[in-house]
Amino acid sequence: METRCFVDVAGPFLAEVARKVGLQLPVATVLHRLVVMPDPHGVVPRAAPYTILTEPQDLPWSDQERAWLREDGLERLAKPLPGAVHLRPDGPLDSDWIRLGWPYHREAEPPRGEPDFPPEFADVVVRGAYRLCPGMARYVEAMPARVSVFGGYYCKTPENLPLVGPTDVAGFSLMGALSGYGMMAACTAAASLAAWIGGDPIPGSEYFSMARYEDADAPSTPERPAVAGEL
Ligand SMILES: Cc1cc2nc3c(=O)[nH]c(=O)nc-3n(C[C@H](O)[C@H](O)[C@H](O)COP(=O)(O)OP(=O)(O)OC[C@H]3O[C@@H](n4cnc5c(N)ncnc54)[C@H](O)[C@@H]3O)c2cc1C
Repeated sequence: METRCFVDVAGPFLAEVARKVGLQLPVATVLHRLVVMPDPHGVVPRAAPYTILTEPQDLPWSDQERAWLREDGLERLAKPLPGAVHLRPDGPLDSDWIRLGWPYHREAEPPRGEPDFPPEFADVVVRGAYRLCPGMARYVEAMPARVSVFGGYYCKTPENLPLVGPTDVAGFSLMGALSGYGMMAACTAAASLAAWIGGDPIPGSEYFSMARYEDADAPSTPERPAVAGEL
Protein backbone atom coordinates (compact mmCIF):
# COMPACT_ATOMS: atom_id res chain seq x y z
CA MET A 1 0.00 0.00 0.00
CA GLU A 2 1.47 3.36 -1.00
CA THR A 3 0.49 6.27 1.16
CA ARG A 4 2.12 9.17 3.01
CA CYS A 5 0.00 8.63 6.08
CA PHE A 6 -1.36 5.43 7.59
CA VAL A 7 -3.18 5.38 10.93
CA ASP A 8 -3.52 2.11 12.79
CA VAL A 9 -6.95 2.23 14.49
CA ALA A 10 -7.54 -1.50 14.64
CA GLY A 11 -8.75 -1.52 18.25
CA PRO A 12 -7.98 -4.93 19.78
CA PHE A 13 -5.92 -5.74 16.67
CA LEU A 14 -3.74 -2.60 17.02
CA ALA A 15 -0.59 -4.63 17.76
CA GLU A 16 -1.30 -7.15 14.99
CA VAL A 17 -1.51 -4.38 12.37
CA ALA A 18 1.60 -2.64 13.79
CA ARG A 19 3.57 -5.88 13.53
CA LYS A 20 3.05 -5.74 9.76
CA VAL A 21 5.42 -2.75 9.67
CA GLY A 22 7.80 -4.28 12.21
CA LEU A 23 6.57 -2.46 15.33
CA GLN A 24 6.15 -4.20 18.67
CA LEU A 25 3.59 -2.36 20.80
CA PRO A 26 3.40 -2.63 24.60
CA VAL A 27 -0.30 -3.52 24.57
CA ALA A 28 -2.43 -6.42 25.76
CA THR A 29 -6.10 -7.28 25.27
CA VAL A 30 -8.44 -8.21 28.11
CA LEU A 31 -11.96 -9.50 27.46
CA HIS A 32 -14.59 -7.30 29.10
CA ARG A 33 -18.04 -8.78 29.62
CA LEU A 34 -21.44 -7.40 30.50
CA VAL A 35 -24.80 -8.97 31.37
CA VAL A 36 -28.23 -7.65 30.40
CA MET A 37 -31.27 -9.31 31.87
CA PRO A 38 -34.88 -8.56 32.76
CA ASP A 39 -35.65 -7.57 36.35
CA PRO A 40 -39.26 -8.83 36.64
CA HIS A 41 -39.26 -8.35 40.44
CA GLY A 42 -38.16 -4.70 40.10
CA VAL A 43 -35.30 -5.08 42.55
CA VAL A 44 -33.30 -2.31 40.83
CA PRO A 45 -35.29 0.97 40.95
CA ARG A 46 -35.66 2.51 37.48
CA ALA A 47 -34.22 5.78 38.80
CA ALA A 48 -31.16 4.08 40.33
CA PRO A 49 -27.86 5.58 39.23
CA TYR A 50 -25.00 3.53 37.84
CA THR A 51 -23.88 1.94 41.10
CA ILE A 52 -20.50 0.36 41.79
CA LEU A 53 -19.40 -1.73 44.77
CA THR A 54 -15.65 -1.21 45.03
CA GLU A 55 -15.08 -3.76 47.82
CA PRO A 56 -13.55 -7.15 47.01
CA GLN A 57 -15.87 -10.08 47.59
CA ASP A 58 -15.78 -13.64 48.83
CA LEU A 59 -18.90 -15.21 47.34
CA PRO A 60 -20.96 -17.38 49.73
CA TRP A 61 -20.99 -20.64 47.75
CA SER A 62 -22.56 -23.69 49.38
CA ASP A 63 -20.41 -26.80 49.89
CA GLN A 64 -22.14 -28.46 46.96
CA GLU A 65 -21.48 -25.45 44.72
CA ARG A 66 -17.82 -25.40 45.79
CA ALA A 67 -17.56 -29.05 44.76
CA TRP A 68 -19.09 -28.22 41.35
CA LEU A 69 -16.65 -25.34 40.93
CA ARG A 70 -13.75 -27.73 41.62
CA GLU A 71 -15.15 -30.25 39.14
CA ASP A 72 -15.34 -27.53 36.46
CA GLY A 73 -11.85 -26.15 37.20
CA LEU A 74 -13.35 -22.89 38.49
CA GLU A 75 -11.88 -22.96 42.04
CA ARG A 76 -10.65 -19.38 41.60
CA LEU A 77 -14.27 -18.23 41.84
CA ALA A 78 -14.36 -19.56 45.41
CA LYS A 79 -11.40 -17.34 46.35
CA PRO A 80 -11.67 -13.60 47.12
CA LEU A 81 -12.56 -11.71 43.94
CA PRO A 82 -11.72 -8.06 43.23
CA GLY A 83 -14.25 -5.25 43.68
CA ALA A 84 -16.14 -3.24 41.06
CA VAL A 85 -19.32 -5.22 40.54
CA HIS A 86 -21.70 -2.66 39.04
CA LEU A 87 -25.30 -2.39 37.91
CA ARG A 88 -27.79 0.07 36.49
CA PRO A 89 -31.23 0.10 34.90
CA ASP A 90 -31.05 -0.42 31.15
CA GLY A 91 -33.25 1.05 28.42
CA PRO A 92 -36.16 3.50 28.86
CA LEU A 93 -37.92 4.16 32.17
CA ASP A 94 -40.76 1.76 31.37
CA SER A 95 -38.36 -1.08 30.53
CA ASP A 96 -37.62 -3.76 33.14
CA TRP A 97 -34.11 -4.56 31.87
CA ILE A 98 -30.96 -4.09 33.90
CA ARG A 99 -27.26 -4.17 33.00
CA LEU A 100 -24.53 -5.59 35.19
CA GLY A 101 -20.79 -6.10 35.04
CA TRP A 102 -17.91 -7.28 37.16
CA PRO A 103 -14.34 -7.24 35.84
CA TYR A 104 -13.11 -10.00 38.16
CA HIS A 105 -11.33 -11.51 35.17
CA ARG A 106 -8.37 -9.33 34.20
CA GLU A 107 -6.03 -11.75 32.45
CA ALA A 108 -4.87 -10.75 28.99
CA GLU A 109 -5.60 -13.04 26.05
CA PRO A 110 -5.06 -12.75 22.29
CA PRO A 111 -8.04 -11.01 20.64
CA ARG A 112 -10.47 -13.10 18.61
CA GLY A 113 -13.11 -11.94 16.16
CA GLU A 114 -15.78 -13.85 18.10
CA PRO A 115 -14.72 -14.11 21.75
CA ASP A 116 -16.03 -16.89 23.97
CA PHE A 117 -18.03 -15.84 27.01
CA PRO A 118 -17.84 -18.32 29.87
CA PRO A 119 -21.27 -19.81 30.67
CA GLU A 120 -20.96 -19.15 34.42
CA PHE A 121 -20.38 -15.39 34.02
CA ALA A 122 -23.98 -14.19 34.46
CA ASP A 123 -24.49 -16.37 37.54
CA VAL A 124 -21.28 -15.08 39.17
CA VAL A 125 -22.16 -11.43 38.46
CA VAL A 126 -25.66 -11.83 39.88
CA ARG A 127 -24.16 -13.36 43.04
CA GLY A 128 -21.73 -10.42 43.28
CA ALA A 129 -24.54 -7.91 42.70
CA TYR A 130 -26.56 -9.47 45.51
CA ARG A 131 -24.15 -7.88 48.02
CA LEU A 132 -24.83 -4.51 46.41
CA CYS A 133 -28.58 -4.98 46.00
CA PRO A 134 -29.92 -7.75 48.28
CA GLY A 135 -33.08 -8.16 46.15
CA MET A 136 -30.85 -9.79 43.52
CA ALA A 137 -30.94 -12.91 45.74
CA ARG A 138 -34.19 -13.79 43.95
CA TYR A 139 -32.20 -14.19 40.72
CA VAL A 140 -29.52 -16.29 42.42
CA GLU A 141 -32.34 -18.72 43.20
CA ALA A 142 -34.04 -18.46 39.79
CA MET A 143 -32.28 -16.67 36.95
CA PRO A 144 -34.63 -15.03 34.40
CA ALA A 145 -34.75 -16.92 31.11
CA ARG A 146 -33.65 -14.11 28.78
CA VAL A 147 -30.13 -13.36 30.05
CA SER A 148 -27.62 -12.09 27.56
CA VAL A 149 -23.84 -11.85 27.96
CA PHE A 150 -21.88 -9.71 25.53
CA GLY A 151 -18.70 -7.64 25.42
CA GLY A 152 -15.40 -7.08 23.70
CA TYR A 153 -11.74 -6.45 24.35
CA TYR A 154 -10.06 -3.65 26.22
CA CYS A 155 -6.80 -2.98 24.36
CA LYS A 156 -4.45 -1.39 26.88
CA THR A 157 -0.90 -0.47 27.74
CA PRO A 158 0.45 -1.54 31.17
CA GLU A 159 -0.01 2.03 32.43
CA ASN A 160 -3.52 2.16 30.89
CA LEU A 161 -2.79 5.28 28.81
CA PRO A 162 -3.57 5.39 25.07
CA LEU A 163 -1.17 5.41 22.14
CA VAL A 164 -2.04 8.36 19.91
CA GLY A 165 0.50 9.85 17.52
CA PRO A 166 3.48 9.01 15.34
CA THR A 167 5.82 6.02 15.61
CA ASP A 168 9.41 5.31 14.55
CA VAL A 169 8.06 4.14 11.18
CA ALA A 170 7.72 7.23 9.00
CA GLY A 171 4.09 7.94 8.09
CA PHE A 172 2.72 5.23 10.39
CA SER A 173 0.65 6.60 13.28
CA LEU A 174 -1.40 5.04 16.04
CA MET A 175 -4.69 5.82 17.67
CA GLY A 176 -5.52 3.03 20.04
CA ALA A 177 -4.97 1.32 23.38
CA LEU A 178 -8.06 3.25 24.46
CA SER A 179 -8.87 0.61 27.06
CA GLY A 180 -12.33 1.03 28.63
CA TYR A 181 -12.61 4.79 28.04
CA GLY A 182 -12.35 5.01 24.24
CA MET A 183 -15.84 6.38 23.66
CA MET A 184 -15.25 9.16 26.16
CA ALA A 185 -11.75 9.88 24.84
CA ALA A 186 -12.52 9.54 21.11
CA CYS A 187 -12.90 13.22 20.18
CA THR A 188 -9.82 14.36 22.08
CA ALA A 189 -7.79 11.43 20.77
CA ALA A 190 -8.78 12.25 17.18
CA ALA A 191 -8.02 15.96 17.66
CA SER A 192 -4.64 15.07 19.10
CA LEU A 193 -3.88 12.68 16.23
CA ALA A 194 -4.87 15.30 13.65
CA ALA A 195 -2.55 17.83 15.29
CA TRP A 196 0.35 15.34 15.21
CA ILE A 197 -0.28 14.57 11.53
CA GLY A 198 -0.59 18.28 10.74
CA GLY A 199 2.85 18.84 12.27
CA ASP A 200 1.65 20.93 15.23
CA PRO A 201 1.13 18.54 18.17
CA ILE A 202 -0.90 19.72 21.15
CA PRO A 203 1.47 20.42 24.10
CA GLY A 204 1.37 17.50 26.52
CA SER A 205 0.01 15.05 23.94
CA GLU A 206 3.43 13.36 23.81
CA TYR A 207 2.51 11.70 27.12
CA PHE A 208 -0.33 9.93 25.32
CA SER A 209 1.88 8.74 22.48
CA MET A 210 4.82 6.34 22.03
CA ALA A 211 7.07 9.35 22.81
CA ARG A 212 6.48 8.87 26.55
CA TYR A 213 8.61 5.72 26.48
CA GLU A 214 11.65 7.83 25.60
CA ASP A 215 10.91 10.51 28.19
CA ALA A 216 12.35 9.92 31.66
CA ASP A 217 10.05 12.66 33.02
CA ALA A 218 6.80 11.20 31.64
CA PRO A 219 4.27 11.24 34.49
CA SER A 220 3.13 7.68 33.88
CA THR A 221 4.99 4.75 32.34
CA PRO A 222 4.80 0.97 32.80
CA GLU A 223 7.22 1.36 35.72
CA ARG A 224 5.22 4.23 37.19
CA PRO A 225 1.60 3.37 36.35
CA ALA A 226 -1.18 5.79 37.23
CA VAL A 227 -4.00 4.56 39.46
CA ALA A 228 -6.36 3.15 36.86
CA GLY A 229 -9.67 2.83 38.74
CA GLU A 230 -10.77 0.66 35.85
CA LEU A 231 -14.24 -0.79 35.50
C1 LIG B 1 -18.13 -4.13 26.83
C2 LIG B 1 -17.46 -2.79 26.65
C3 LIG B 1 -18.03 -1.66 27.20
C4 LIG B 1 -17.42 -0.42 27.04
N1 LIG B 1 -18.00 0.68 27.60
C5 LIG B 1 -17.42 1.88 27.43
C6 LIG B 1 -18.02 3.06 27.98
O1 LIG B 1 -19.07 3.00 28.61
N2 LIG B 1 -17.40 4.25 27.77
C7 LIG B 1 -16.23 4.35 27.08
O2 LIG B 1 -15.70 5.45 26.93
N3 LIG B 1 -15.65 3.26 26.54
C8 LIG B 1 -16.20 2.04 26.70
N4 LIG B 1 -15.61 0.93 26.19
C9 LIG B 1 -14.30 1.07 25.51
C10 LIG B 1 -14.46 1.49 24.07
O3 LIG B 1 -15.45 0.71 23.42
C11 LIG B 1 -13.11 1.33 23.37
O4 LIG B 1 -12.09 2.00 24.08
C12 LIG B 1 -13.18 1.91 21.96
O5 LIG B 1 -14.18 1.25 21.21
C13 LIG B 1 -11.85 1.73 21.28
O6 LIG B 1 -11.95 2.35 20.04
P1 LIG B 1 -11.01 1.94 18.83
O7 LIG B 1 -11.43 2.77 17.67
O8 LIG B 1 -9.58 1.97 19.28
O9 LIG B 1 -11.32 0.39 18.57
P2 LIG B 1 -12.67 -0.29 18.06
O10 LIG B 1 -13.87 0.47 18.48
O11 LIG B 1 -12.55 -1.74 18.47
O12 LIG B 1 -12.57 -0.19 16.49
C14 LIG B 1 -11.57 -0.89 15.78
C15 LIG B 1 -12.09 -1.11 14.35
O13 LIG B 1 -11.02 -1.61 13.55
C16 LIG B 1 -11.52 -2.67 12.75
N5 LIG B 1 -10.36 -3.55 12.43
C17 LIG B 1 -9.66 -4.34 13.25
N6 LIG B 1 -8.66 -4.95 12.59
C18 LIG B 1 -8.73 -4.51 11.31
C19 LIG B 1 -7.97 -4.78 10.14
N7 LIG B 1 -6.91 -5.62 10.13
N8 LIG B 1 -8.32 -4.15 8.99
C20 LIG B 1 -9.38 -3.29 8.98
N9 LIG B 1 -10.14 -3.00 10.05
C21 LIG B 1 -9.82 -3.61 11.20
C22 LIG B 1 -12.56 -3.34 13.65
O14 LIG B 1 -13.45 -4.09 12.87
C23 LIG B 1 -13.21 -2.13 14.28
O15 LIG B 1 -14.24 -1.61 13.49
C24 LIG B 1 -16.20 -0.32 26.33
C25 LIG B 1 -15.62 -1.46 25.77
C26 LIG B 1 -16.23 -2.68 25.94
C27 LIG B 1 -15.58 -3.90 25.34
